[in-house]
Amino acid sequence: MHRAVDVKNLQRLPSPHFRVALAACKDNSSLDDLRRVGSLLDNAPASQKILYLPVLYLALDPARIPTAEDLESLQPCTVIRVTYASLSLAMLFRLWITKSSHPGLGSTLWPRVWPWIHFMHEQVEYLPDSIALTEIILYFRFLDFVSANFKPLRDSLLVTSTPGFRVFVGKAWAALSRMKSSPEQFEICVQSVALTLWEGDFTDPVHFMELIDGAGGGLQDLARLSAELFDPTAGQLFTLCLSCLVPLIMGAPDERPDLDPSLREEYLEMLRQHDFLPSLVARMDAFVDTAEADSESMTACFTVLKRLLHAPRTYRWFPSVIRAGLLHTMTRASLRFPGDLDDSVRYFLTNILPEVMVYYHVVTAIDEVLDSVTKVCHRKEFEALAIFDDWSEFLDLAEMRVELVRELADASALKACDNVECGELQDRSHCRRCSGCNSFYYCNRKCQMVDWGRGGHRNQCNSSTMLALADTRNCTLGFRERQFMRALLQYAYRQEVDSIYRQQAEVLVADPDAVLLTLFDYTWSPVQITVHSIANSPITETLDKMGVEWADFVSRAECSRGRMQLHIIQVSDGINSRLWVIPLRTSSSKVHDAVRELALNLSTDYDNEDLANEISAILEEADNSDLVEIH
Ligand SMILES: [Zn+2]
Ligand SMILES: [Zn+2]
Repeated sequence: MHRAVDVKNLQRLPSPHFRVALAACKDNSSLDDLRRVGSLLDNAPASQKILYLPVLYLALDPARIPTAEDLESLQPCTVIRVTYASLSLAMLFRLWITKSSHPGLGSTLWPRVWPWIHFMHEQVEYLPDSIALTEIILYFRFLDFVSANFKPLRDSLLVTSTPGFRVFVGKAWAALSRMKSSPEQFEICVQSVALTLWEGDFTDPVHFMELIDGAGGGLQDLARLSAELFDPTAGQLFTLCLSCLVPLIMGAPDERPDLDPSLREEYLEMLRQHDFLPSLVARMDAFVDTAEADSESMTACFTVLKRLLHAPRTYRWFPSVIRAGLLHTMTRASLRFPGDLDDSVRYFLTNILPEVMVYYHVVTAIDEVLDSVTKVCHRKEFEALAIFDDWSEFLDLAEMRVELVRELADASALKACDNVECGELQDRSHCRRCSGCNSFYYCNRKCQMVDWGRGGHRNQCNSSTMLALADTRNCTLGFRERQFMRALLQYAYRQEVDSIYRQQAEVLVADPDAVLLTLFDYTWSPVQITVHSIANSPITETLDKMGVEWADFVSRAECSRGRMQLHIIQVSDGINSRLWVIPLRTSSSKVHDAVRELALNLSTDYDNEDLANEISAILEEADNSDLVEIH
């Protein structure tokens, strides 16, 4: 027992105060006795306050906790006992006892404080308001008391091994949202919770489940509360809130017990669904210019962001993240912490962002902010930064993609006849559409008949014109996304047309019967374009698993004599590669035939430069419609 709770200490009080305090220590002391001690306590000089502690220690005797029967009948004496304890706890927490001011005192008080807190917390819904502890004291002042007396919390077995303590922390966290009416109060409460979370060991799977229990029972409750920590009304506590979530998001430091990976993924997905990402970025954006911002916190922010964006189908979250100010935050971070933040920012500029700029909705979001970001990047002090070149390269790419999106809006609806033997290009409104699938178009009835029979559409009516490959199949893209990816391919094709046909000739020299595919790999920046024989490509294994739909594409491509080309786009969905076949069309076989003929007549020891010149000559002779058009 700590000597600070010894009744003898009361004798050191001035004598009138001593008598008041002593009266409150008697078995039959009244609420008024205790209230008188309370007012003395509040007016006492700081050094004397602790002398009143024995009164509170006696008052919180756990033997006085009402039983279930007592509560049932709720006799006046029970009401008094509960009120007495409520008052005592409130007074105790006002004493601001800390581990440094009174080492070891926390351990003496814990067996008195916790049983009462536990009781109040269990009964909070049943006790009349007049006698129950307010939530502020019950949850947040109590957590302050714990943080102050048990440091570091994770090593304080007395507290952490107490059954129900972590469930209680979850409840306190859930109570936060009810504190918002007063922003000042809310900020203090957020601090109490965040400190406890930060100091406790909640990555331990058992502890984590207890926390969830308190938070409301489901993982999504915990995710909602996590997102709430980044509520703008939580004021200046951004770094603290971030640090208490870092272990849950990133994994436990050192060799501490950690969550099961699948449970963590589930938690992270829930965070995304509760708008954690835009909230985080908005807070980063507001934080980066403040005096408290330091490179370490900003690096942690980017690390967390990166982790949350590393998952399947994360491209869905980018528009909101970009609109919340990601690019602006990155420019500010580059300016304020040159050098220190370069690695984090560079990873977004050269890796994460280029990868998702194949998605229409991401590029339209970038479109909205590009002008203002470009303006910042062209300021003098920016151009002197080491990271300026990466910015410049990123902005060029962004501008190009934004341009494509804009062109898409007023692109004419050209269609190529789906009778691959014909392939005539014309305005969509002049085409005849297959009523079976609504996605194949023909010049006229004759072409439709040919494709139905010889072309094999009879067997394929209903299949999509943009085929998702293998594991991509559960990932559907909207019309705009597909349209944009086609435009992207079209653009890359035009830029690299010489190289593509040169590669075609090279493959054909080695294997004159090869059916060709062109792979546009957008998991790299800039895009990597390679031509392969379908029997021998990096994705042949995937293609072989595709069955009839792919076989149909191949047979159509074969009988089209180059009017339909098997172009495949490879993009990242956040973690995995996704592949789509986007057959591109021309209305003539002129280039195709010329390249084949060139390849057939080429000796195996051909000169690279000669080949390139020959291809250039073929392309120069071709006009636009001999080359690929968007289908
Ligand atoms: Zn036709
Ligand atoms: Zn059809």
